[in-house]
Amino acid sequence: MHEDPSAHIPLPVIQGDPHGPAPFPWQAWYEGVGGRTIKIAEADRILERIYNDQYQRFEGPIAEQARDLGSPAAGAAWIKQRARLHGADLVGIAMVEPQDVYRGRHVEHAMAIVVGQRMAYEAFVTVPSEDAAIECLRIYESLGEVVIALAQDLRDAGWPAVVEHPIGDSSVLHIPLALKAGFGELGRHGSIIHPDLGPLFRIGSVLTSLPLQPDQPIDAGIGAFCDRCQACRMFCPADAIPDQRSPEAGADPQGNDRYLVDTGKCFPYFARRNYCSACLATCAYHHKQWAVDQHGQPAPYPSVPFGTVPPAMDPEGAHPYPKLRRDEASPYHRKR
Ligand code: SF4
Ligand code: SF4
Repeated sequence: MHEDPSAHIPLPVIQGDPHGPAPFPWQAWYEGVGGRTIKIAEADRILERIYNDQYQRFEGPIAEQARDLGSPAAGAAWIKQRARLHGADLVGIAMVEPQDVYRGRHVEHAMAIVVGQRMAYEAFVTVPSEDAAIECLRIYESLGEVVIALAQDLRDAGWPAVVEHPIGDSSVLHIPLALKAGFGELGRHGSIIHPDLGPLFRIGSVLTSLPLQPDQPIDAGIGAFCDRCQACRMFCPADAIPDQRSPEAGADPQGNDRYLVDTGKCFPYFARRNYCSACLATCAYHHKQWAVDQHGQPAPYPSVPFGTVPPAMDPEGAHPYPKLRRDEASPYHRKR
């Protein structure tokens, strides 16, 4: 039986873990892997809209009177309903802890409303591909609208809200928050697998001080499935996905040691080959007997034309995967 995390709502200002990862340095990262080589006109148009339009709408007026939404459970039910109305496929609530905040950053609101939106599997039937790259960005933009609208709902109700856009330059790490919000389990490929949607979705968050009833991490047996399955590892063109779990990578919220993807191999490939995504599309969790695409049709297994693999780089120099270290005092701490 899990303990109720709401008994541990942390202090309002949460400093990033000094041992955690630094904010993602996109520009330096691309330079480190030889420069941005993905040139797709449609993708560039989406990026322009995100940075030039959506970023201007991150803030808004807060109503003078804070609306009483009743209990934290009622508040959570209300904001989840709003998220779904705005187009979220997934929504959950997590408490923010220092390990969820990038090193050197801080956040002023302890509750995260985490939202996810599904990507269309049809765009990933061949990976890497321009279609797959565009679909990733299409969902970043679409989910961006969800977090912007959700933040304004909170402000209209008199509560502060901070947009943490799915595309990046965020103060928080979306994946650990989404795990705590019950979105699924961490797969061998380093992405979250949802029991029904698989791993083909993107994540964004809104932070607020509105008291909300947090959700709990789930244990749907996905980690155990990964221990028997090797599909993503076999289809990874850069050979970046590990055979074994790594105790030094920290435990996930289910208490499993994490699989640690070699970013020194993945990132150079990812940056040259349309954000790759082969591990997401080939994830066997899509292709179990009941897996279907957006139209309810059985999903065909994708083809992966393996490209030339660029030389590996030092993963620590680029952007090490965040560890999932949890203090034993954390209500989310589990150890098997
Ligand atoms: S994105 Fe591509 S290169 Fe990176 S881990 Fe996944 S399959 Fe491998
Ligand atoms: S392909 Fe298999 S091992 Fe890899 S993440 Fe998906 S279920 Fe886990």
